[in-house]
Amino acid sequence: MNKKPFVTKEQLEEIVKKYPTPFHLYDEKGIRENAKAVKEAFAWNPGFREYFAVKATPNPFLINILKEYDCGTDCSSLTELMMSEALGFKGEYIMFSSNDTPAEEFAYANKIGATINLDDITHIEFLENIIGTLPKTMSLRYNPGGVYQLSNGIMDNPGDAKYGLTKEQLFEAYQILRNKGVERFGLHAFLVSNTVTNDYYPTLARTLFELVVEIKEKLGIEISFINLSGGVGIAYRPEETPNDIRVIGAGVKKVYDEILVPNGLGNVAIYTEMGRFMMGPYGCLVTKAIHEKHTYKEYIGVDACAANLMRPAIYGAYHHITVAGKEDAPCDHKYDIVGSLCENCDKFAVDRMLPKIDMGDLLVIHDTGAHGFSMGYNYNGRLRSAEVLLKEDGSTQLIRRAETPKDYFATFDCFDILKNMNYDV
Ligand SMILES: *Cc1c(COP(=O)(O)O)cnc(C)c1O
Repeated sequence: MNKKPFVTKEQLEEIVKKYPTPFHLYDEKGIRENAKAVKEAFAWNPGFREYFAVKATPNPFLINILKEYDCGTDCSSLTELMMSEALGFKGEYIMFSSNDTPAEEFAYANKIGATINLDDITHIEFLENIIGTLPKTMSLRYNPGGVYQLSNGIMDNPGDAKYGLTKEQLFEAYQILRNKGVERFGLHAFLVSNTVTNDYYPTLARTLFELVVEIKEKLGIEISFINLSGGVGIAYRPEETPNDIRVIGAGVKKVYDEILVPNGLGNVAIYTEMGRFMMGPYGCLVTKAIHEKHTYKEYIGVDACAANLMRPAIYGAYHHITVAGKEDAPCDHKYDIVGSLCENCDKFAVDRMLPKIDMGDLLVIHDTGAHGFSMGYNYNGRLRSAEVLLKEDGSTQLIRRAETPKDYFATFDCFDILKNMNYDV
């Protein structure tokens, strides 16, 4: 597939007059079309809800768009819970799927009526000690251990992951919860990340549906909702075929009709907690080429760095790069595209074949809409960039301003010299 940015060079030239590079740009049209497709793909399940994983893109403007499609939020921390509550999400629309959870976060999640998804059997007592009586609805995160493999060979290693309860613990925990007065139960699992295949959710659904039947038979407990969590991937590489959420939804329905319905479990609600799939392709990092360096290799230095997009530096993740206006030019130059951090892993691309890059060219780094801006940090004193929304009518809106030095120094307000510093540079 030829990966084209959702924005043209002409549009970008207008946008950079208003917002200096680097910045993350989001595509409202793409976000809306995809959110609608997700809703339709699971419309066969009356209880279906997507809880957007806030950590992927914690921006209130973007989350408000998803809210229009009846999405809830999936939170992992206090500030994500606070944002959800501030945006008007009601209790049942907030999932709290956290791990190694601090006491005050459990307390807050309970206060706002979020559904608490426990990561460990010991958290039952931990939670009880904080809030007293347990909520009527509780969910548990399952980890089957071992290696989890899909039919096409994609696999991950749950046995090595810190998340979730073992099967034995899961059965014990549901009984404990029931004995403590819990009435509505959920089951959650997140076993493989960034799966570029339509098989993952249906395969996971089979695992969880069979388990839910076993729970019903052995414990007499009927699970009310099954949370397939995140893990639905996107085609970061041009040679990958993007997932088709309609095929995925139909695949889950087939397993649902085969396993749950005949076992009298045809009322179970399906939940998802997608982050990457909801936003990833609909964001990009726009940056400018500012240096060209020729030593043992050819380097292009850009004005963004790993502090704006960490995935290539920490996972060696591939992000496609387009030189704006040179979409159809031959890729006959081999470059390392680098940022300014004093870390040699600060490279958006290594040995990448691209068209000849001239100073001042705008580079579009694709698929930064999830786990992009949100993983940003301040190393080397670098400041977080702005986030800009490209609206459906082609206009733009600043949805988060760039950090300034004043923001960077703000937490030193205990230190008079910096408090009274002159910020004019
Ligand atoms: C990160 C996370 C998600 C979202 O994962 P994606 O791969 O972005 O879809 C969902 N649920 C939980 C519990 C997570 O930690």
